[in-house]
Amino acid sequence: MIANADKNALLLCMQCGTCSASCVAKTSFNLRRLVFDSFLKNDLLSSQNLWDCTTCHNCQSRCPRGIPLTDLIVESRKGFVESGVLPTEIRDYLTSIQKFKNPFGQSKQKRVEWAKDLDLKVVEEDEFEWLWWVGCMVYDPRTAEVARKTARILESIGLNFAILGKEEGCCGNDVLSMGEEGLFELLKEENESIFEKYGVKKLVVSSPHCYNTFKNHYDFAGLEVVSILELVYDAIRKGTLEFKYDVEASVTYHDPCYLGRYNGMYDLPREVLKSIYNIEFVEMRRIRENSFCCGGGSGNFLRENRSRSNVSRAREAVSTNADILAVACPICLNMLEDGVKTINAEIEVMDIMEIIHLAMFGE
Ligand code: SF4
Ligand code: SF4
Repeated sequence: MIANADKNALLLCMQCGTCSASCVAKTSFNLRRLVFDSFLKNDLLSSQNLWDCTTCHNCQSRCPRGIPLTDLIVESRKGFVESGVLPTEIRDYLTSIQKFKNPFGQSKQKRVEWAKDLDLKVVEEDEFEWLWWVGCMVYDPRTAEVARKTARILESIGLNFAILGKEEGCCGNDVLSMGEEGLFELLKEENESIFEKYGVKKLVVSSPHCYNTFKNHYDFAGLEVVSILELVYDAIRKGTLEFKYDVEASVTYHDPCYLGRYNGMYDLPREVLKSIYNIEFVEMRRIRENSFCCGGGSGNFLRENRSRSNVSRAREAVSTNADILAVACPICLNMLEDGVKTINAEIEVMDIMEIIHLAMFGE
């Protein structure tokens, strides 16, 4: 968990520039300079460009003075939200979540299209042990493919699970990182009353963004929250998930900020990949705590002039000579596929669940 933002912490800054050097949004603002300007004014970080911050947490985890930079940025955004001074794209994003419970402005009906021929349990119909929170990104066709494969994996390991279907809403991760606390509280209340209604005790979550939110920002009594990777790793260890096909490929892995820096989950995704026969695992230059963000966090994946960090991250992956760039987040999948296309590279971007599916079913 992250410490509460404290603007007095800015006074500790020694202007080393570590934060600005590691920032994915450094073409929009210079964090070191902003910190300097802000402490002169005894103010929080007051730049409209702060919306370009992906809340990747890199600056905060690397600052030698322990200044909670990401928290301060979120705190500053709260001020902008309160005053109503917001870029149009951010306002639209928040309105879409408020009205449609997803950032794409899509209907509830469309949320379940990915599963229409899958015959999955929906909570209102059946008893279940695990509720699978699929996440808003499933409106994206590429994430929908991953969800279909994930469903097959979960069924084949004999998991007693259900989905919420049309009733699934938004966890509120981006809303919270954009500083819209009021809307976050509303979403949280709605989701917790749904958990209450269906007696949910165990929640398995696909997206690291949803995982972080449910784990660290909800307080629904007795709710166990696990990442889909934890569940799958457990099944591999127990022998209920068996690999039948070799995946003869070299694979590198991109740490998602909200699994890695926010929740310290670095080893488990690597262990899952290394347990697949014949995979040769190679690391990129910047990994684990020093991993470089894909550029999509805090709603930036939908913004027009987003950072090009996905392109530099794609280049970094290509330089390992890996065949596959494995990801564990639907936003990273979206951003890094785009980065790979931009540089016209051969490397294939795959979610870890897709690689597992390949090793289980040969496709
Ligand atoms: S990394 Fe920390 S100490 Fe260094 S410039 Fe940034 S805020 Fe200041
Ligand atoms: S959280 Fe990431 S994107 Fe935001 S200011 Fe820090 S390094 Fe830059």
